[in-house]
Amino acid sequence: MSFRAFPSIFCIVFDELNDLYQQVILDHCKHPRNFRELPNPTRFAQGHNPLCGDQLRLFLAMDGDVVKDISFLGSGCCISKASASLLTEAAKGKTRAEIEKMFELVHEMVTTGRVIGDVGKLAVFAGVYKFPARVKCAILAWHAAMAALKGDNLPVTTETEDT
Ligand SMILES: [Zn+2]
Repeated sequence: MSFRAFPSIFCIVFDELNDLYQQVILDHCKHPRNFRELPNPTRFAQGHNPLCGDQLRLFLAMDGDVVKDISFLGSGCCISKASASLLTEAAKGKTRAEIEKMFELVHEMVTTGRVIGDVGKLAVFAGVYKFPARVKCAILAWHAAMAALKGDNLPVTTETEDT
């Protein structure tokens, strides 16, 4: 296991908060936020995780470099839905660069369990790294968001990405 020179205070283990985090994930899964189609999206992306069967469509309305509005539709497991729901909440009002930075933090967190910056509510996914089959569920919406921000409207699949 590689170790990077981050101050240990940022390498928080969230195990003790597992129950609370599961509640947040369940809530966003049952009542996904921004679960609708945008009337006039300027960007659009589709995501597919064949390993689990998760499918989602992400809609963005950009104002220059800022995400003015964002929404999604889709079906899949609780982790994938909650991840997309929390992503839409986190990304609204942010710039493309801020969302790319968030993607890096979330990717690091769900693949290694390390939290190396302020991820806000997205910290509920810190325990996902312990379940390798679910990592792709948690990261799917983020890959779709990256594709949408890049402006390529091609479907993304977790099978063509290194997680
Ligand atoms: Zn899934």
